[in-house]
Amino acid sequence: MPRDSVPIILHYKDSAFTVYSLEEYSQLPDSLKGSVEQQYYVDSVYNVLQYINTPAAVKEDDGSQDSGFSIVMIVVFGIIAFNIYRLIRQLIKEQNNPADAATFETDEGNEPEPAVRYLIYKGDELKFSDDEVHTVCKKYNPYYQKLNADKQPVFVERVQEFIRSKDFYICSPKGYKEMPILISASAVQITFGLKDFLLPHFSNIIIHPEEYFAYDPFRILVGNVQGHSISLSWKHFLQDYQNPTDGKNVGLHEMAHALQVQYLFRNPKRSNTFKEDYEHYDRIDDDVLNAEKTSGKRLFDENALRNKNEFWATSVELFFEKPIELKTQYPDLYESLRIVLNQDTAAM
Ligand SMILES: [Zn+2]
Repeated sequence: MPRDSVPIILHYKDSAFTVYSLEEYSQLPDSLKGSVEQQYYVDSVYNVLQYINTPAAVKEDDGSQDSGFSIVMIVVFGIIAFNIYRLIRQLIKEQNNPADAATFETDEGNEPEPAVRYLIYKGDELKFSDDEVHTVCKKYNPYYQKLNADKQPVFVERVQEFIRSKDFYICSPKGYKEMPILISASAVQITFGLKDFLLPHFSNIIIHPEEYFAYDPFRILVGNVQGHSISLSWKHFLQDYQNPTDGKNVGLHEMAHALQVQYLFRNPKRSNTFKEDYEHYDRIDDDVLNAEKTSGKRLFDENALRNKNEFWATSVELFFEKPIELKTQYPDLYESLRIVLNQDTAAM
């Protein structure tokens, strides 16, 4: 079924303008369009939304009703993004610099204006060799570095399968092969002890170069899970993997939310081992949550104590990044996570 194009409402002082295409946008006065950099941003977000909203990009659904809703939410995010962008931009001092990763297309050099403002890769068309996946994981993923040599090929094969099952949307003119490989590797990492690891509910991986905006409530995000999409800020994703023992990892955090959605919320009536084990974890987390609220020596941050879903996602981060501390301070919680995820990170 054809859909209408995606409207973008631009707010300027007391007025609001609605545009329905990039052509209309390009005809606006420069004072409304903002700087060249801001225009790239609008182009990128608009094009990705437009692509997601076309029938060809609508995936075979498993009966859920939330994909339309998620598109609306993403559109709303797009609408507010431009309005807030120039304000926020001043606050973001660090320029995005995705390490020394290699590009998909090696178009380095003096490029005054990139022709492409966003990139879309179908996972099953990205044909990385096992060697490439191994090399990237070996370089950037500390979990993979610690895996026994006989487990590494299994990990690589799972990453390959995960990549093949997703579409990757990069909201930037530059893509890096490390993006699909490492983001898939973070999903494979937390599900490595589980039989089902593909998180089939999530068909889209959306990669932003840095912080991005979301609405309802309005917030700046470095990662989130919504509808059929897992979104991440590449800058934060990489930074977190470069600090593997500080207990913070946005990739693992979002994959933990995705795992909850996949196993607990998608087919809530169908029982599965994960769900049964999770219920055991769920009986323990309240005690730890209360202990943390009154503890002088906190392991969990404020965000984790906000609600049980955040507590779960942060528990998973700690399970991988501070397993010994977690096991020492909260042995029952550690043990329940070890059972839910079917792996023992403290013994690695
Ligand atoms: Zn969260």
